Amino acid sequence: MFFAKGENFLYECPNCGGNLKFDISSQMMKCDYCLTTHNPYDVTKEKDAEETNLQSGDNNEFNVTIFTCPQCGGEILSTDTSAAEFCSFCGASTILDSRICKERRPSHIIPFKKTKEDCKKAYISRMKRAIFAPSELKDEKYIDGFRGIYIPYWAYSITQKGPVLLKGEKSYSKGNYIYTDKYDLSGDLDAYYYDLSYDASSSFSDSISEQIAPFNVRDSKKFTPSFLSGFYADTADVDSSLYRDDAINLANATSYSKIKKTPAFSDLKLSTEGNNFATTMALHTFCDKPERVLYPVWFMSYRKEGRVAYATVNGQSGKVAADIPVDIKKYLIGTFLLALPIFFLLNGLFTIKPDILLSCSGLLASFALIIYLMEITAVLRRDKRMDDRGYLHRQFAGAKPGQKKENQITIKELLSYIAESGQIPGFTGSAVAMGVSLLVRLFAPVSDLWYYGGAIVSFLGILFTNMAIIKKYNILATRKLPQFDRKGGNDHA
Ligand SMILES: [Zn+2]
Ligand SMILES: [Zn+2]
Repeated sequence: MFFAKGENFLYECPNCGGNLKFDISSQMMKCDYCLTTHNPYDVTKEKDAEETNLQSGDNNEFNVTIFTCPQCGGEILSTDTSAAEFCSFCGASTILDSRICKERRPSHIIPFKKTKEDCKKAYISRMKRAIFAPSELKDEKYIDGFRGIYIPYWAYSITQKGPVLLKGEKSYSKGNYIYTDKYDLSGDLDAYYYDLSYDASSSFSDSISEQIAPFNVRDSKKFTPSFLSGFYADTADVDSSLYRDDAINLANATSYSKIKKTPAFSDLKLSTEGNNFATTMALHTFCDKPERVLYPVWFMSYRKEGRVAYATVNGQSGKVAADIPVDIKKYLIGTFLLALPIFFLLNGLFTIKPDILLSCSGLLASFALIIYLMEITAVLRRDKRMDDRGYLHRQFAGAKPGQKKENQITIKELLSYIAESGQIPGFTGSAVAMGVSLLVRLFAPVSDLWYYGGAIVSFLGILFTNMAIIKKYNILATRKLPQFDRKGGNDHA
C-alpha cells in the first residue's frame, strides 16, 4: 500500500491515514487498511474545501481527474489519480491520458447498490441463455473487466397545479345517426412529476440507457464527491434543454391518461389532445430547472474486428443489457443439430412432391431476402446513431432537437451502402434461389431431377444469404468504434 501525502487526491482514513473508498455493501466510506467505516458526508479532501471556497463562494465545482482515451477521445472522470488502464468506450487497453480539472457538481447521486460480484452474477445468468455467443464473452477474465461508472442524467421535475377546464367530445352511432356529445370538464389538478430523467452524456448511448432503465429516485442522496471514490463517472455534455419538451410531453400524456381512467371519460376525445402547447396551457404544466444527477452503471466493453460490444448492468436494480454477437461456427452446428430431428420427423409424416418442395424453397428465399434488407437498414441506422438524440445533438449542434429529416434512410443510401462493401451482396443468394425456382416451375420439365437440382441450388443460395444475415446481425449486435472529438481544455466552461 502507498499513499503520497501532500499531492494525493485520495480520501484519507481519519483512523490510520489509509485510503478510503465507497463500500457498496455498507453504503459507507471504508478504509482499505484498518477496515473502519465512515460517513461519506464527513470525509473531505482538504483540496475540495479550499478550492470551492475560492470559487466566488458557491459550492458548484469539485476537483476531478479527467481520463482521455488516446484512441477514441472518450472521457471519464474520477476522484482518484491512479492510472486507468483501459477505455470503456472503445475497449482499447492503453493507459489513458489524465489531467486535473474541475467539474460541475451534480445535485444528487444514486450510490451503487449492486456490488461487482452481484453484477457479474446477473451478467452470467443472462449469458446462459445466449447459446450462440462467442466464448470470450463468457470468459472469467473478460467478465472481471466490469467497471463502475456513474452516468450523468438530467432530471426534470414538473408540476401541474390549478383549476382545469377541458372541452371534450364523445361520438357514437345509433341506427343511421351519429351522435356527438360535448362535455365541459372542470376540476382541480394537483400533479407532481419528480425526477423524469434523461441520459446527459453523448458517449453513453440512449439505447443502452433505455434498456437498463428505470432507476428508482427514492434512493438518491445529496451529492458529495466522496461517493465517487473507487468509481468513475462519465462527463455530462448534453445540453439540459434537449429533453425538456420530452419531459413536458410525458407529464401531459400521463395526466391525460389518468383523467381518462375515470370510467365516464374513457372514450372522450379532448380538444387539446395532440397539441402540446395547448395542453401545457390547459394543465398549467410547469417544468422546473433540471438537476444534474448521477446514476450507477456497471460497464464493460468487448472489442473485436474493429467493432465494439457493450455489456451494462444497472448498478441499482441489477438489470442487464448486453450486445450479444453470434459465433458463426456455434450457430451452424446448433442449427444443424436442430434441423436433423425436424427433417426426420417431417420425412416420416409427409411425402413432399418435388414441385411443392421447389415452391417452398422459393418462398424461403424471399423471406431471407426481406430479412436481409431489413437488417441492412437497421445496421445503417445504428451506424449513423439515428436513434441517439444526445449524440445527434452534438453532431448537429444548433439544429433543433427531433429533426425529422436526419432520421430517415433513402433507398439510394441503402443501395450505395450495399454497393460500397465491394463484396458480393448477401441478397444475391436468395435472388438466385428465387430465380431458379421460378424458372424450373415455369418450364415444368418432365424429369424430377430438375426439381431436385433446383431445390439444391436454392438451398445453397439461401445458405449464402443466411450467412450474410448473421454477419450483418453481428454488425448490428455490436457498435462502430466511437470517435469523440472533444474540444479539450475545460469541459465545464
Ligand atoms: Zn484506516
Ligand atoms: Zn477509447
